[in-house]
Amino acid sequence: MIETIEKWIRQVSRQHESVRQSCSQFADDFEGYFAPEFLAQCRFVVTPNIPTPDNRLLNQLGLGGFFGENMVGLTLNDTYYLLPSVAENRRIYFHELVHVVQWQQLGVGGCVSRYLQEYRRYGYEHMPLERMAYGLDGQFSSGGPAVDVWNQVRTII
Ligand SMILES: [Zn+2]
Repeated sequence: MIETIEKWIRQVSRQHESVRQSCSQFADDFEGYFAPEFLAQCRFVVTPNIPTPDNRLLNQLGLGGFFGENMVGLTLNDTYYLLPSVAENRRIYFHELVHVVQWQQLGVGGCVSRYLQEYRRYGYEHMPLERMAYGLDGQFSSGGPAVDVWNQVRTII
């Protein structure tokens, strides 16, 4: 199962190779929160279509209702995908970068399996990986104080 997801993530990444951009451009916006070295490893893509696995895989994963109209962004490993409607919303960029930190610290297989477990057990609104990301993006959008996200996630993940 994890291999199928990893394969899909690689495929999505290849499909967007020519349109993805580096997150280095946010070094000033996110100063104090994310190190420039970390941002240099992150990519984003603005796209009218958030990548979605086919229905068969979605059902296998128990994610039938996950990819819906409300989804504006999705992080897959080191790259996140955003709808044009949120392309100017720095809080969303921040939120997805917290997910990249989670992917890096848990590893691809670890992050996928933990995200799925939490989603099934708690639901999107209450799952700890999302609460962590919303808590930190809220702190950023309310003006700080800045927190080193990498270290913060490492202590609570
Ligand atoms: Zn999220």
